[in-house]
Amino acid sequence: MIPQEFIEEVLERTDIVEIIEPRVTLKKSGQNYTGLCPFHDEKSPSFSVSQDKQFYYCFGCQASGSALKFLMEFDRMDFVSSIEHLAQRVGLEVPRDQKSDPGASQKRKSIYEVLDQSTSFFREQLKSHESRARAVDYLKGRGLSGEIARDFGVGYAPPGWDNLMSKLAISNADRQLLIDSGMLTEQVEEGKTYDRFRDRIMFPIRDLRGRTIAFGGRVLDDDAKPKYLNSPETDVFHKGRELYGLFEARKRVRKLNKLIVVEGYMDVVALAQHGVGYSVATLGTATSTDHIERMFRIVPQIVFCFDGDNAGRNAAWKALLSTLPAMEDGCSAKFLFVPDGDDPDSLIRREGQEKFEARIGKAQGLTNFFFQTLGSDLDLESVEGRAALSKLSVPLIAQVSEGVFKQLMIQELSRRTGVDSEKLLGITGLDRSSPTRERPPPVNQRQRQLKQSGLGEHATRILLRQPDVANLLDDGGLAKLDGVAEWQLLVELVRWIQQAKDTSPMLLLSHYQDGPYFDYLRGLAEQDPMLSQDQLADEFLDTLRKMVRENESEQKQRVIDDLTQKPLSELSPVERDLLTNHRRSKPQS
Ligand SMILES: [Zn+2]
Repeated sequence: MIPQEFIEEVLERTDIVEIIEPRVTLKKSGQNYTGLCPFHDEKSPSFSVSQDKQFYYCFGCQASGSALKFLMEFDRMDFVSSIEHLAQRVGLEVPRDQKSDPGASQKRKSIYEVLDQSTSFFREQLKSHESRARAVDYLKGRGLSGEIARDFGVGYAPPGWDNLMSKLAISNADRQLLIDSGMLTEQVEEGKTYDRFRDRIMFPIRDLRGRTIAFGGRVLDDDAKPKYLNSPETDVFHKGRELYGLFEARKRVRKLNKLIVVEGYMDVVALAQHGVGYSVATLGTATSTDHIERMFRIVPQIVFCFDGDNAGRNAAWKALLSTLPAMEDGCSAKFLFVPDGDDPDSLIRREGQEKFEARIGKAQGLTNFFFQTLGSDLDLESVEGRAALSKLSVPLIAQVSEGVFKQLMIQELSRRTGVDSEKLLGITGLDRSSPTRERPPPVNQRQRQLKQSGLGEHATRILLRQPDVANLLDDGGLAKLDGVAEWQLLVELVRWIQQAKDTSPMLLLSHYQDGPYFDYLRGLAEQDPMLSQDQLADEFLDTLRKMVRENESEQKQRVIDDLTQKPLSELSPVERDLLTNHRRSKPQS
């Protein structure tokens, strides 16, 4: 049995939009997201997802529920697997055979409440406390408007030991709750309790639903230490995963396509003030792979923006190391170093949005920064230097998952060491897990090669031969393909053809001639699908059906694989059933 409060905790940390978006194309409309309902065939969108309520609803077929229900219905996963899937995403382990503790979820609710009251308290102090002038001056000095302060919920913790405590801790139970939520510090030996945040600008840290889960406090006087003070870990705050400003970025920017990672909250707020509303900051921790995976689920590009000094470069290198395992085709990471003595806040205040964004556009690519850093102390003219470069880079490249990006890194290593890439693969064992190495694209060509499975490629090939087969697909059929990353190009092609009045293979290709996939598509167009003209349509639809089926069984297989790795005794009855059914059905499938 999985305790109810665990399920609640998982759902509280999950964002339903992150779950649904990869599976259904969603558009922001007002407070909600809408799209074509995946549960019934339709041509105009009546499927709606509410981020605030963490709930989906279809006006057409009345399908509705939470992220958990969606996974169960859409991926046809059972309850336990769905919970496991969600728990793993948010870094929690499903507890087994644990006694239920209904107090835990009640306590979390109370903590959210007390943090909400604290947010209001700090904002009130910024408006009315007698020593507010310094805080207001500080914010004005940074060029922040009242509007931006409001959007970010910025407040002020006045000087003194018990401002918050005397306001919110009426009973002993209140006081304990303030301690548990990190707002009070307790000196156990002396039996004293006092406000954790004193004489600081307060930035509420919000989860994706906009609830305050912690605070960051920044000193007014740059000499005071520590400059930034964060809430400690609590039942609702896990700093290794959270990103300051993510909630606000998603609110401000209609369609996020990149995120800038900066070092402090002030940077995030200042950038938003100057029109760059898509930056986030980690919370006093280095950027972790968790952070990066989280961002890549929302945007395809991350730009790390650090100081140009040694500390900044070290932080950037650490961020790069955390990024490698999260890199997938279609994702990119870049590095921007601000000039000495500047930070993003001062830089954008001086230069303005346009110049700052131009810098972002010219940021250094990950591969470039990677080899530049590794090679900085090596003499690459010498054999020893080049050998050392291989030795340093190979274990790191090995962390990248298979795909075009990894191939590019290997190619680049080959270019820099002068060792043939085929040979590099053999010597270094980089090819051990990559059975499919087909003609990686040359580095200097900015064309992207897609990782499409054989079936996807086959379907694309038919489409290029006879584009009007795309018109055989209705929205429902297309929706089934949508959401799988490697089929995006195919889906895009189908959509384009369906909208175009007149299509021919040449027209289709010419539409893509300036895009990143041109070489790939031209290559496919040149291959004969080995079918007669009248077989193409059937073959196309049949291939799509196979793709959908294959995808479903892959997802199921993943669940089964997870289960088979666990001892039978640890499986719940439902899981055991699933496994037995699977084994029983295997010989036929
Ligand atoms: Zn529906």
